[in-house]
Amino acid sequence: MSGPRILTIFGTRPEAIKLFPVIAALRDHGGMTVRTCVTAQHRGLLDQVLAIAGLTPDVDLDLMEPGQTLDRLTARLLTGLGDVMDAEKPDRVIVQGDTATAMVGALAAYYRKVPVSHVEAGLRSGNIYQPWPEEINRRIVAPIADQHFAPTQTAADALLRENIDPAGIHVTGNTVIDALHWTRAKIAANPSLASGLDEIAARFAGKRLILVTTHRRENFGGGMEGIARALARIADRSDTAILFPMHPNPNVAVAMDAILGERDNVARIEPLDYPHFIRALEMCEIALSDSGGVQEEAPALGKPVLVMRETTERPEGVEAGTAKLVGTDADRIVSEISTLLDVPSAYSAMARAHNPFGDGHASERIAGIVANGAGV
Ligand code: UDP
Repeated sequence: MSGPRILTIFGTRPEAIKLFPVIAALRDHGGMTVRTCVTAQHRGLLDQVLAIAGLTPDVDLDLMEPGQTLDRLTARLLTGLGDVMDAEKPDRVIVQGDTATAMVGALAAYYRKVPVSHVEAGLRSGNIYQPWPEEINRRIVAPIADQHFAPTQTAADALLRENIDPAGIHVTGNTVIDALHWTRAKIAANPSLASGLDEIAARFAGKRLILVTTHRRENFGGGMEGIARALARIADRSDTAILFPMHPNPNVAVAMDAILGERDNVARIEPLDYPHFIRALEMCEIALSDSGGVQEEAPALGKPVLVMRETTERPEGVEAGTAKLVGTDADRIVSEISTLLDVPSAYSAMARAHNPFGDGHASERIAGIVANGAGV
């Protein structure tokens, strides 16, 4: 390999899902030495994506520590990524989204005067504690980066309001749609990639399936208890079933064990790999989630998504009518789910396949801009 050295850095499941198509597009473009460094901020979930994407990182920092505090994680990331950059000598660093890895990756590059590209730039909730600490992580990346890949015009406008140089802002679409298309094509060619849910599908046949994910830090404690109470009441209906791939953070299990418990029509399962999660989204009638990525994928698949947050940095789904903010209050969640289950017109108004987040070609655009900027 030769040409400018491009170092991509990521650490969590959503970053890996949204960067693997970019890495593939950079490699397809050619003319650059594309290197990958994972911090493994979330080991198990990250490895699931690497396996599906067939990606072997060039550098693996393996920084996961049980119960790690944000301070310790940030400190270890900064020294770890600084050392990687000194060894790798990149001409450009690419980070994605709003994790500690993205924020510190940008900072370590800045300390070395290495230019930074930010994939999924310009998302803003306007509230520094929702999502926490992601809202500040991504805001810190913005003034450091010189290439901002905004998924939508809304995101680009947010950057313009922060006086980011318009010449560096590119509306590319969100690479999650590229990942979704790629994965659906893989499943179509090889259905066994997502056949692990067949047993659950048979067990819940005839039931109205609700797919649940929750992991947000700001929902731990009272919010998680509200979600658990809502799920228990939804599961009390005889016509529903809940499929709940549980995030490994112990705060989720504690609330669910105490309040939801074990029920015949609730499948609390291990986190799904990406093809199985896409399959679960296709199987369900409604997605109930506090995730960022699920707010982008569900509209693309025409599934209503009720978002268990008070604000969102992804207003496009809400504006398009396929996503709705419902917070974590049990009464509110139950009422919104009941409306979707019991009022067909309310359901069909939300269940429209809509792609506000891109056309599936974001990664090619990004690779072209990076290559062009590197003189390739
Ligand atoms: N996801 C997955 N398996 C699961 C749950 C989620 O592959 O069991 C995927 C999902 O499709 C989405 C991403 O993980 O692309 C979202 O990750 P998460 O909710 O952890 O983070 P966020 O998007 O909120 O940053």
